[in-house]
Amino acid sequence: MTSRALQRLWEWLCSAPGALPLEQRRSYEVIAQTFVLASLGHLLFACVLIGLQIPLLIVLNLACVATNTAALMFHRRLQLNRAMSVKLTATLLLITLSVWWIGPDAGFEYYFFLLLCEMLISDMAARYKIAVSAVIGSVALATLLMAPHFTPWMLEAAAFRKDIRLTNLVMVFLILGLILWRLHAITERCEHHFRRDATYDYLTKVLNRRAIFHEAEMLWQQERDFTLLLLDADHFKQVNDTHGHTAGDEVLRHLAYIVRGALREDDRLGRVGGEEFLIVFPDSTREEVLSVASRIRRCLADQPCQLETLTLPVTFSMGMAAAKEVTSLQALIDMADRRLYRAKSAGRDQLVMSDLEIIGPAAVL
Ligand code: GH3
Ligand code: MG
Ligand code: MG
Repeated sequence: MTSRALQRLWEWLCSAPGALPLEQRRSYEVIAQTFVLASLGHLLFACVLIGLQIPLLIVLNLACVATNTAALMFHRRLQLNRAMSVKLTATLLLITLSVWWIGPDAGFEYYFFLLLCEMLISDMAARYKIAVSAVIGSVALATLLMAPHFTPWMLEAAAFRKDIRLTNLVMVFLILGLILWRLHAITERCEHHFRRDATYDYLTKVLNRRAIFHEAEMLWQQERDFTLLLLDADHFKQVNDTHGHTAGDEVLRHLAYIVRGALREDDRLGRVGGEEFLIVFPDSTREEVLSVASRIRRCLADQPCQLETLTLPVTFSMGMAAAKEVTSLQALIDMADRRLYRAKSAGRDQLVMSDLEIIGPAAVL
């Protein structure tokens, strides 16, 4: 099998189903990966034990390959607790019997610790985690205290005992390292998704309301000179009413695309309401903001939203407010809002730049 096919198989086995909420994906994927790795580990152990000729442990390791595979299948069907119970029971039994037969100093006891870690990073409820931790701890203690000091298997394994202990130590070290590394990588990926979802608007992919206001707040706190331009699509309800909500969504995406294309590198765009957008212009003059607003109007006129055979021209009413005109951020937002509504009452497709200046489409185009 090529490495690409192996990677596909790994992804198929371990990727969380799309329906699973993001917050559960991390634990899902790490646990799925431990099931796959544990199956491979037990298979490897079964091969080593064939060399040592300890048939019972060979059988038990093969049984653990089967139970880990079954656990993975339950896990893929989102029966997470059942998957964990099957895996924990089989592995606990295997560790206990391994310590019992080969001796409490052959390194199999390290796996109690590994099992505990695996269980603790799973998605089990806290009360189950406490109960299962107590069970693992009690079984480990009882096994180490009560395991016999002599069994026929110990005699057979005596020559290899040190090698077995070292192998177990290395295995636990590697598996634990692997689990922590995967956990970290998956956590980083989930955090990236969370950050993206918390920052960007799902429909238009521009900044969301919280993020764009945060941009404005940062500039206000740094006492920077900046300008807000609030834009509201005119008669947008008609688009929905006439062509349907899906067409409306497509128009909103198109509007965001056009506005984004008209901005300069440092300008920030966010969607602050249904069909309402806010642009933050750091360190910009009135003329610069006016020129961007003109560009938006021109681009909208040149490239109306095209839906199959339909052409849907949409215009924006705009209200502008500069930080230096007011004494608080809230006053600045209110001022832009007031001017936007003046633009609406002045007939729409207008830009209100100050309490005295209204610029109609013809003037700017
Ligand atoms: P005005 O010129 O006064 O702004 O009129 P308008 O129709 O644009 O404003 P109104 O506030 O009456 O309607 C806004 C509409 O925007 C109503 C709502 O259905 C629609 N809308 C809000 N969010 C979304 C969305 O995410 N998708 C779609 N398709 N429509 C949305
Ligand atoms: Mg509107
Ligand atoms: Mg509106």
